[in-house]
Amino acid sequence: MKYQAPAEGIMVHNDWGDTVRYKVACECSDPDHDHQLWVEADDHGVSVSIYATVKTDSWTGHRLDSFWFNVYNGICQRVKLAWAVWVTGQVQTEVTLVMTEQQAHNYAETLIRAQKNCKEIRKGAHR
Ligand SMILES: [Zn+2]
Repeated sequence: MKYQAPAEGIMVHNDWGDTVRYKVACECSDPDHDHQLWVEADDHGVSVSIYATVKTDSWTGHRLDSFWFNVYNGICQRVKLAWAVWVTGQVQTEVTLVMTEQQAHNYAETLIRAQKNCKEIRKGAHR
């Protein structure tokens, strides 16, 4: 499998040389599932940050296919989350990003290439 350019599922949003921001699209095409991937080089090395939108686990306890049950269930989940923040100061959530095999390969190769490029450009800027 070869890295693609342009790459399936990986889009360059911004390229500032030593910092590049990518959009990593979810295979299901819901933009709420997309990740923002930042690769940044500074004097201490290269850092990678992933930003994602997390949602309540509103499907938990879902047993009826009813609008009013879903409204009630959604309110219960919000109260549970608010209570968890109130009591523990944190909540546990999870995010799923679905990728094809080709996209996963592109994602990995993008990370490898971005960290090398950002580091090289950062070094060049300080010469
Ligand atoms: Zn998705």
